[in-house]
Amino acid sequence: MAGLSEIEWTDATWNPIAGCTMISPGCTNCYAMRMAARLQAIGHPAYSDVTRKSGNRAVWTGKINVNDKAIAVPLKWRTPKKVFVNSMSDLFQDNVPLELVIKVWDVMAAAHWHIFQILTKRPDNMLKVVKEANLPTLPNVWLGTSVESGKFNSRVSLLRRVPAAVRFVSFEPLIGRVGKINLTGIHWAIVGGESGPGARPMEADWVEDLRIQCRKQAVAFFFKQWGGTNKKAAGRKYRGRTWDNFPKPSVVPLSAAE
Ligand code: SF4
Repeated sequence: MAGLSEIEWTDATWNPIAGCTMISPGCTNCYAMRMAARLQAIGHPAYSDVTRKSGNRAVWTGKINVNDKAIAVPLKWRTPKKVFVNSMSDLFQDNVPLELVIKVWDVMAAAHWHIFQILTKRPDNMLKVVKEANLPTLPNVWLGTSVESGKFNSRVSLLRRVPAAVRFVSFEPLIGRVGKINLTGIHWAIVGGESGPGARPMEADWVEDLRIQCRKQAVAFFFKQWGGTNKKAAGRKYRGRTWDNFPKPSVVPLSAAE
């Protein structure tokens, strides 16, 4: 699975690994888990045995497949893009081989005309791996964490300790109030409700709370969607307009020609 994306805050997805494990309530209705089960069912080799049936749904088995064919894909894309890394997994799970993370970093450094966006629910592991492997701070790599409710605000404190050109927080699926949050060192916030079967509702005042805190702390605010079982119908307008703000990286990536 690599190619153009319908996710509003990126242009393309790049999945050098497949498979994950659930870590917190934000994972309950994981889109990647559902999609991986479909790809596994049609025999896609990158997704073999990554999910199993549990009642009337599919859940991760914990198996991680490295897709060697996908590793170099961004180098073939000559037009600069924002690339969401591992939309079908979490690069900083315990079982991802360190050599794979290093390879991903090498490709991101070589494909310097793209912006790579890495999102994890495990910023503790991200911090550990980046330090232990001495991974360079690349100007075209944005590092982020997901926070689904105030119970997980400590992920932001961990992310803040990871050196990065851009740090971002995805408050999606927002399933509870975040409350007061320190966004020092964070450049960008994405806010969105859960979508798909069993979607849990997001309340407007949770969004407003975040929008105001982003404004006060000079964080770019991106409103992704209201979500729900029909996300297209619910739309992505908030207070009568769209909010498609992006961060300004501290270092501007080189163009493809340089
Ligand atoms: S960490 Fe991400 S990919 Fe993994 S189960 Fe949770 S939501 Fe899905």
